[in-house]
Amino acid sequence: MKPIYITIVGGGFGGIYTLKKFNKIFNKNSNIHITLVSENNYFLFTPLLHEVATGGINPQNIIEPIKKFLGSSLNTLYVGKVTNIDIKNSKIETRNRYWDYDYLVLAPGAETNFFNTPGAEENCFTLKSLEDAIKIKNHCITLIDKASFISSREERKNILRFVIIGGGPTGVELASELEEFLKQTFLRYYTKDLIDDISVVIIQKDSELLVQLSKPLREKSLKILQKNGVEVILNALVNKVTKDGIEFNNKSLKTNTAIWVAGVKPINISFSPSISLENNGRLKVNQYLQLDQYSNVYALGDISGAKEDNGIFIPMLAQVATREANIVAENIKNQIEDKTLKPFIYKNIGTLISLGRWMAVGEISHFIMSGHFTWFVWRTIYLSKLISWQKKVKVAIDWTINIFSERDISKL
Ligand SMILES: Cc1cc2nc3c(=O)[nH]c(=O)nc-3n(C[C@H](O)[C@H](O)[C@H](O)COP(=O)(O)OP(=O)(O)OC[C@H]3O[C@@H](n4cnc5c(N)ncnc54)[C@H](O)[C@@H]3O)c2cc1C
Repeated sequence: MKPIYITIVGGGFGGIYTLKKFNKIFNKNSNIHITLVSENNYFLFTPLLHEVATGGINPQNIIEPIKKFLGSSLNTLYVGKVTNIDIKNSKIETRNRYWDYDYLVLAPGAETNFFNTPGAEENCFTLKSLEDAIKIKNHCITLIDKASFISSREERKNILRFVIIGGGPTGVELASELEEFLKQTFLRYYTKDLIDDISVVIIQKDSELLVQLSKPLREKSLKILQKNGVEVILNALVNKVTKDGIEFNNKSLKTNTAIWVAGVKPINISFSPSISLENNGRLKVNQYLQLDQYSNVYALGDISGAKEDNGIFIPMLAQVATREANIVAENIKNQIEDKTLKPFIYKNIGTLISLGRWMAVGEISHFIMSGHFTWFVWRTIYLSKLISWQKKVKVAIDWTINIFSERDISKL
């Protein structure tokens, strides 16, 4: 059998879980050569980014070196950005080199979508990478310190207004943790007067938060957030962001901290010749997750335009990318062995959202839950999803320490 070259683009959930599955199913097959190309040399566990941004978890504890997953000596990691895919000639290009592939797995994920809102990209923080989370934490620390030297309460209130644009799961979890971080941790170091001037605001374009949850949970989440002190402004479409504030519905709100978590769009990779995209920019795939015209190219995770039977796009979630990864790896093996391919069938296994202060809400298999026990389930599930036992232990230690003492406010 002649050697087979497989390239995976992206070292996130889709890419790493595909590699892990390949390691299992090819089991040191000396004909299979796998190259993983990713911008970073680490895998990032995005679901806990908001806890890094708010001092709850050490940044190092939610990343894993990709080298750890390589498995066989026939696997290679190339740290770099894919700049073009010559899909007709099965060649992949980065800035410094190019190589041929027999099979290609595309999992480069998504990036923040600012929906062309003027000033948003220039003036907003985002929460997609480890650097983003560290930037937010450092900025909070700087701002509170700056405000402590200002005597005008009005000016202080404007500086200490933290605005989160987007009321989906990321916005809600970030707002909850931010509220706890700013109002509890900093109370140890600054006066109560100053802490009372802090506000955390969620701006949401829809009439409710967390539109993917059922009605009772949406209402409950709103009540919990408001009880915890988070201000929620609904039906507010942000149409401009400046360095001093945001504008929506003909109103303006002063802030030095606008965090944009209002949406993502698939990474735009250049293909020659160009290929078919869905109207939301995701790659057109069939039920086996193969690109329409190229059966040796698979797309999964946030970039994949996989749909449910009713034609609705499958959500951009880590839990989806990891399950798609199993199907992609198995289908490539089946294709090599001339066997029948398996379709990807999406099943929503549930959603859990942490609301800070020992509170969470969620739905698992249509079972609605909320409260302290749900929060405990949320933590247990996320801990179990971290890949290595070392990081599970480290995050568990961070969480335990946070119960008994304040969070870390060192700037990184
Ligand atoms: C703050 C936050 C919280 C989230 N919380 C949850 C959650 O609780 N539950 C859940 O299920 N999902 C959650 N998600 C969504 C989840 O992270 C994504 O759906 C998932 O990461 C998608 O996997 P992926 O492999 O497609 O992309 P990613 O995991 O983003 O991986 C893409 C990788 O490709 C690399 N890359 C990009 N472009 C190139 C290129 N040109 N060349 C080489 N490499 C490239 C990137 O650097 C990255 O390493 C969250 C996302 C965010 C941002």
